[in-house]
Amino acid sequence: MQKNEMVRVTIEDIGTNGEGIGKVDGYTLFIKDAIIGDVVEAKVMKAKKNYGYARLMKIITPSEYRVEPPVCPLARKCGGCQIQEMEYGRQLQFKEDKVRENLMRIGGLTEALLAETMEPIIGMEHPYAYRNKAQFPFGTDKNGHPITGFYAGRTHDIIANTDCALGVPVNQDILKIMLRFMEEYHIKAYDEETGKGLIRHVLIRYGFKTKEIMVCIVINGKELPYADALAERLEKLDGMTSITVSPNARRTNVIMGDSYEVLWGKPFITDYIGEVKYQISPLSFYQVNPVQTEILYGLALDYAGLKGEETVWDLYCGIGTISLFLARQAKQVYGVEIVPQAVIDARNNAKINGITNAEFFEGKAEEVLPEYYRRYAVEHGGKKAYADVVVVDPPRKGCDEALLETIVRMQPERIVYVSCDSATLARDVKYLCGGGYEVKKVRVVDQFPHSVHVESIVLLSKLHTKQNIEVELEISEMDLTAAESKATYEEIKDYVLEHTGLKVSSLYIAQVKQKCGIIERENYNLPKSENSRQPKCPPEKEKAIRDALEYFKMV
Ligand code: SAH
Repeated sequence: MQKNEMVRVTIEDIGTNGEGIGKVDGYTLFIKDAIIGDVVEAKVMKAKKNYGYARLMKIITPSEYRVEPPVCPLARKCGGCQIQEMEYGRQLQFKEDKVRENLMRIGGLTEALLAETMEPIIGMEHPYAYRNKAQFPFGTDKNGHPITGFYAGRTHDIIANTDCALGVPVNQDILKIMLRFMEEYHIKAYDEETGKGLIRHVLIRYGFKTKEIMVCIVINGKELPYADALAERLEKLDGMTSITVSPNARRTNVIMGDSYEVLWGKPFITDYIGEVKYQISPLSFYQVNPVQTEILYGLALDYAGLKGEETVWDLYCGIGTISLFLARQAKQVYGVEIVPQAVIDARNNAKINGITNAEFFEGKAEEVLPEYYRRYAVEHGGKKAYADVVVVDPPRKGCDEALLETIVRMQPERIVYVSCDSATLARDVKYLCGGGYEVKKVRVVDQFPHSVHVESIVLLSKLHTKQNIEVELEISEMDLTAAESKATYEEIKDYVLEHTGLKVSSLYIAQVKQKCGIIERENYNLPKSENSRQPKCPPEKEKAIRDALEYFKMV
């Protein structure tokens, strides 16, 4: 296969990023925007030895799963939606399969176990206008006018669009006011290349139940000139509750600044999930799809199996959303969260709901819980800190191993794992299963229709066997080989093959692991000195193995 070659391909599979996969004479091509079942004409853009990437040029026969015309005319260009052109039912199947495959391949769960424990994915009845939050970047078009929209896939080129199909209608009113204000007062949009210009992003949040609106303008500087004139226009919108400015002069991809100032109204909006009321401030995390979140938290409550007497830890608790949802049916809930403002919100949310049995700690979950565990033992004559249920809801990188280790030591009856990345979920589930837990329930909840992102929830329960009693001992051994136990040689080989098409030997993996300072077992067939006659891992393969080790969070 050559670059620029035109080929006709039948799409037979879906890649992890939603791209279509098809074969031409046994050669695999990945084609963005092509849908399983399509017959397409595509141009090869990058040709590696065993696989390549091609650009969709023409759809010859559309798939039965193709939505025509797409709801958003910009869906293909915009980086926000990756699979909007795929019929929603097929999107759901894709997501469920992705979680199942990761739990099997990375998590080591069997197909039989998943057939027993995995319930059908929960999709949305109306999978549009579902987001309560949007962050729009600002830029400047060729004629010097301000624009806003979303980034194109994999770049920071702005696709001008104020009418995103996933967002709420009021976004458009706010964006139009912003753009007009910038034109009239000659306020420039930020330019990533030069680091000049003022307005970087606008964060908009909308309370689905309360109809309250928050606008936070992120600026490359300390002050927004004519801010009052802007606030005056924005505050006229029905439901406007909070207008703030967040300074962010850093030249990074991080959207929000570290602080914010109130221009008008309150520093937060209020919304409900079920019966629980939450105050949300600009810098705190809040789930973006309130309809599906209520379903997800309902599952978390169900999986936690609370009767009223339990002690529950909610790690990565944000503004205390899950904690407070569970507190009403538990004896005591402890939440841990890294963002100070979110912890303040969490404490306040407990107060406004009259919840007195929830306590929140600020810090890293992987530090706070182990420290609590150590201190508890010291203060209670060696007795172990106890929890009936532990809930974790980490960001995409999953849980830190120090945290998982402490959870296993604490031996809760149940662990409820809420995850937005099924690969790291699978990795952590494997660790917990190795620590005396078994998977009881798995469910995927579609929080992000039209994107490839997936939210899943897993219930693990303590094994009541001899194996479990020995766990404490095994854990100290695991400490030594923890980094090694994360992914087997076979998994690393598979990963490298899948992502680069390269075949690597166990010897090469061992060499790279040694270079990275990951301890090898002594009996492994390793070169003993620099002068060894064994073949040396070539740089290309070393890079591929290092990428795999990074992927499995081993380095
Ligand atoms: N459970 C909450 C938040 C989940 S998002 C909800 O459903 O709304 C993940 C949260 O973890 C974010 O609030 C983020 O700030 C926090 N976080 C990220 N790394 C963390 C760490 N190492 N320790 C504790 N919290 C962390």
